[in-house]
Amino acid sequence: MAVTAVVGLQWGDEGKGKLVDALAARADYVVRYASGSNAGHTVIVNGRRFVFHIIPSGILHERTTCLVCRGVAFDPESFFSELKSLQEAGIAYENRLWISRRAHLVLPLHKLEDEALDRLLGIGTTKRGVGPCYADRAYRLGVRVIDLYCPTTLRQRIRTLLEVKSPLLRKAQIEPPSFDDLFSWCEDVARRLQRFVADTAGILQKALSSGAEILLEGAQGVMLDIDHGTYPYVTSCHPATDGISSGCGINIVPQRVIGVLKCYTTRVGAGPFPTEEKGDIGETLRRRGGEFGATTSRPRRCGWLDLPALKYACRIAAPTHLFVTKLDVLAELEKIKVCSAYRIGSDVLTEFPADISVLEKVEPLFREFCGWGDVKGVEAFSRLPSQALEFLAFIEEELGVEVGGVSVGSERMELLERQT
Ligand code: GDP
Repeated sequence: MAVTAVVGLQWGDEGKGKLVDALAARADYVVRYASGSNAGHTVIVNGRRFVFHIIPSGILHERTTCLVCRGVAFDPESFFSELKSLQEAGIAYENRLWISRRAHLVLPLHKLEDEALDRLLGIGTTKRGVGPCYADRAYRLGVRVIDLYCPTTLRQRIRTLLEVKSPLLRKAQIEPPSFDDLFSWCEDVARRLQRFVADTAGILQKALSSGAEILLEGAQGVMLDIDHGTYPYVTSCHPATDGISSGCGINIVPQRVIGVLKCYTTRVGAGPFPTEEKGDIGETLRRRGGEFGATTSRPRRCGWLDLPALKYACRIAAPTHLFVTKLDVLAELEKIKVCSAYRIGSDVLTEFPADISVLEKVEPLFREFCGWGDVKGVEAFSRLPSQALEFLAFIEEELGVEVGGVSVGSERMELLERQT
């Protein structure tokens, strides 16, 4: 299969990093096309934990070429710190990791702006400066990677940005950086980044023409999409399938789209969450699933699987297959619930509501499944306990998409592909 995309179908943190790492073993190119360092993809290999925010998770396989395309809000600080962890692990990345010339840069100013917005409005972001970076792109004030190499443009942009943003920062009692500090930060980044800068769309075009295996790594999830998600509790880009072509900079249609979902639901920060469990069950899921953000370490809110939200996500992301993660996390539970519909008053909703004030009021209607016990060490999909297979068949039937595999632990090998 020439082009495969991996996208999250929930509110992110579904375990995409692990699947990308597994699929990357057979890929020639692994490509990030959206989002920024607010995404955190965790890969665990032989007990060693890697968290990637900017660099594609496929970098651990040394035959892949990894591309960070123009749709990514490129955070140089995060990039250089990830390079350092690769270096420490002895993973060679020279001449196989390229950054788009057209990607917009997350500047230190953007992180301060996030902090200011949080202080003034309490919007609760990851404070990685991603929202302000994308906003500046739309305002046509942004600094792109290529602009680092044109001092006249760079000077003018920095001047304008400081003029526009300083009053907001001061209002939040944050001292704006000086022009000289910001300019020399950019000069330093320009120097250290230069050997990675490339025409990533051109590289992808050639890869497509040569029939190379391309793996597109989605970040976050459909329910966090700026247009389709639970607005305004969303991210500032299109992290799922509809962001692929614009994020890559060429028209690229994957033949296989793998929609990743956890067998329960989590979300970080505020926003409606109909199946949330605030008591013991939620605590058990958080503890067993290690549900603490890879980017901020914030505890994730936990609850049961939400099929109305997933049906809606499938409509948007159009997965050809599903990949269900963390079956091992539910192992302790005797009963497992799945929300199959929402009710409001005496009405059962047939559509996922666009109005979040409605979503906040819905009551989940659950179907109960028997627990499946321990799944660690199961060696084939068909050998999963019958209760787990029944649960997966129900998801498949409800979403109308085949389950192509599952994950039963955090290690690289704890992944079961379904043989057809
Ligand atoms: P991503 O952003 O979608 O890549 O997800 P994260 O990396 O933020 O979160 C997924 C977390 O779950 C990581 O710590 C993974 O190592 C872990 N993980 C992935 N699959 C499984 C699984 O099947 N079982 C368990 N217990 N952990 C898993």
